[in-house]
Amino acid sequence: SVDASVIPLNQGISRLQVLVILYDVTYLRQVEKMQLDFVGNVSHELKTPVTAISGFAETLLGGAKNDPATLDRFLGIIYDESKRLTQLINDILTLSRPDSNQNVAASVALKKLVDDALHNLAKVIQDKQVRVEVAITPDLLVVTDERKLTQIVRNLLNNAVFYNRLAGHVTISAQVVDHQLSLAVADTGIGISETEQARIFERFYRVDKARSRHNGGTGLGLAIVAELVKSMDGHVAVHSQVGVGSTFTVTLPVGEGPHRG
Ligand code: ADP
Repeated sequence: SVDASVIPLNQGISRLQVLVILYDVTYLRQVEKMQLDFVGNVSHELKTPVTAISGFAETLLGGAKNDPATLDRFLGIIYDESKRLTQLINDILTLSRPDSNQNVAASVALKKLVDDALHNLAKVIQDKQVRVEVAITPDLLVVTDERKLTQIVRNLLNNAVFYNRLAGHVTISAQVVDHQLSLAVADTGIGISETEQARIFERFYRVDKARSRHNGGTGLGLAIVAELVKSMDGHVAVHSQVGVGSTFTVTLPVGEGPHRG
């Protein structure tokens, strides 16, 4: 979509300049459309838990609270939905943080960072009986933005567990070669078809909306990973086969810390 009436050709401007300006207009409209789409998606996603919370609260107030079993069940739903709302707001804030292009470099013990992330996921890992293997040497130190790397690792591990089969496996491995950190998270889960692989990094895109929601997913986890990795001049890729599993590989330029021991 271009607005040709903006710059008439008869004002001494060369054809090339006109083309450049027209291109700019198209680009700006695309950005504008993406922003509008995002706001539309955000509103829609926020509405879902809010509607559930107010609906169940209203039913309780209307008399359902007198049945103890119903009271318990509805309060459980209200609690879960409010947690989803908090997660959504946190994810949206992460995506819209203005300082996201700045990196705060620090020396990070990678194995400890991964172990801490796993600790936070302990309950889901246990419920799903997933076996997690960490193939990272304890003395691997990298100089990078710790907060960003933590979030990347957490989101990838979250998905590797959530989209796994019962009693499946997750392997997280990392090496540094020539100041490049390669971090791979592999799972034995449901897998992702090639067509879907092209879209999963988009904001709010989910292969199976119901399943993602059920797991507490916001549809923003991988969009956040992609954005953080980009802001660190890195790269993220996925290899996957439906019914077999997926491997997400993040490559980041890092400083190398001294090796202890
Ligand atoms: P969500 O909150 O829905 O998990 P993400 O952005 O993290 O959002 O992921 C987007 C979609 O990609 C998910 O809904 C899921 O369909 C798919 N996906 C992500 N990670 C995996 C994985 N390890 N295995 C299979 N599917 C995955």
